[in-house]
Amino acid sequence: MAFSVKGKNILITGGSKGIGKAIVEVFLKEGANVVFSGRNIERGEETCKEFSSCQGKVKFIKSDVASEEDTKNLFKEAVDFLGGLDIAVLNAGYYPQTRIKDMTVEDWDKVLDINLKGVFLNTREAMNYLKDGGHIVITSSITGVRVGNPGLAHYSASKGGVNGFIKTAALELSSLGININAVEPGNIMTPGMEDVLGEKYIKDQEAIIPLGKLGTAYDIAYAALFLASDEAKYITGQSIIVDGGQTLPESAMDLH
Ligand code: NAP
Repeated sequence: MAFSVKGKNILITGGSKGIGKAIVEVFLKEGANVVFSGRNIERGEETCKEFSSCQGKVKFIKSDVASEEDTKNLFKEAVDFLGGLDIAVLNAGYYPQTRIKDMTVEDWDKVLDINLKGVFLNTREAMNYLKDGGHIVITSSITGVRVGNPGLAHYSASKGGVNGFIKTAALELSSLGININAVEPGNIMTPGMEDVLGEKYIKDQEAIIPLGKLGTAYDIAYAALFLASDEAKYITGQSIIVDGGQTLPESAMDLH
């Protein structure tokens, strides 16, 4: 079967809700064994229970991607449970809205710590466990890479940083036979999106997306599945935009 991850051992950060939860579900349904992380224990355990009847093994581990100590413990515990590691999906992310004029150093640091330092820490730790043929897939964003978004300057810097990071990481990982790529979601309906941006934003966005609607978490999960599969083994240091065409129009006149 194409894009198979059957029997593969996978660690997914930020897997308890939203896009990460769909990635957990899709990988489990494709026959992989999955460990996923998050900070909220109750939510993580609930998600784990939801998928406990899937064929693959599944476990939730509480861990903050921005903590070096948590990250070391997460990978060790995951490998103890799984018996090895084939794929790491670094999905955890945070996108609070604050204009630059109101942004504190604490606001800036928190977003950069989770979205960018977290990717560095988790990639470095993954290198201790992944073998030749291993894959790292990161959830980046169109924001900060293709487009801007007022209120998300810190987030934009973090995701622009992620795309820069994977270019050099791909070169350093190539001698180990490990590839690293990213998915750039556009506007995807997730709990995080609904909480932060609200209903009006979602309606307005639909009007400027050529495919006419926001994406689903599964749209991102299937792109991650492709990049994590052996069929993608000759792709490294790249990113796939999954945005319903949002970044295509040059002007509003180009829409319908
Ligand atoms: P979400 O609904 O808020 O879910 C985020 C997940 O990450 C949760 O499981 C959360 O669990 C976990 N998480 C957050 N901070 C963490 C930390 N410090 N350590 C470990 N886990 C953490 O977000 P989402 O919309 O699914 O976004 C997922 C990824 O896609 C992010 O990287 C985001 O930047 C990216 N993205 C999303 C969209 C979109 O439209 N939704 C667009 C572009 C890119 P806990 O709260 O329990 O920690």
